[in-house]
Amino acid sequence: MPISEQTASAVREAVDEVRERIAAARNRGGHGQDVTLVAVTKTHGPEAVEAAWAAGVTDVGENRVQEAESKMAAVSVPVRWHLIGHLQRNKAKAALKFALVHGMDSERLAVALHDAAQAAGTTLDVLLQVNVSGEDTKSGVAPESVPALADRLHALPALRVRGAMTMAPFDASEQVLRTVFRGAREARQQLQAAGHPAEWLSMGMSGDYEVAVEEGATHVRLGTVLFGTRT
Ligand SMILES: *Cc1c(COP(=O)(O)O)cnc(C)c1O
Repeated sequence: MPISEQTASAVREAVDEVRERIAAARNRGGHGQDVTLVAVTKTHGPEAVEAAWAAGVTDVGENRVQEAESKMAAVSVPVRWHLIGHLQRNKAKAALKFALVHGMDSERLAVALHDAAQAAGTTLDVLLQVNVSGEDTKSGVAPESVPALADRLHALPALRVRGAMTMAPFDASEQVLRTVFRGAREARQQLQAAGHPAEWLSMGMSGDYEVAVEEGATHVRLGTVLFGTRT
């Protein structure tokens, strides 16, 4: 699908600005991490994926399996697809189409993902979603359950637990954001301590990604700042 010159240049400009802000935040934070920009194309058409790719973005995030599958079929650019939203257990098999599942938000889903990967003879990269803020509306495991769960996840060899993911409350103060992001960093530390290859930390959206990068995010998931508001 051809992308209009206008879309392409608007996305390119946004990507360039975001990359500068990420680099500056990384320097301020002092964690020295690499940061992957995951362009969240949900609700936008396949041309958003192509515009992102044209701007040098290699990683794209979708929160619904069906929408992602239709875009995968429609684009020819070889982006890595990230599943960032909640996944139902009966759709675990669909997760195998993604390079990284950010929303492994329960032990039951972990088992379903493992079984699907094992049945397909493959391994799946996942992040453990942690509900650091404790909001009812957010998915994820409770922070205090992470150490014990980290041990039990060793029983699921078809999963590679690559780190932690969290979502901060909308419109939170900087202080609250930092508390939430540090909580996710601690969860990653606990996964590492349990022996998982957990080097990644997916946190930060359009409204809070600079603070997230300062606190060590390795993956930021950005939609609105790149593609405009969703309708
Ligand atoms: C939609 C979504 C994002 C991107 O949100 P923006 O505020 O538009 O950047 C990030 N993460 C998840 C899990 C999402 O569902």
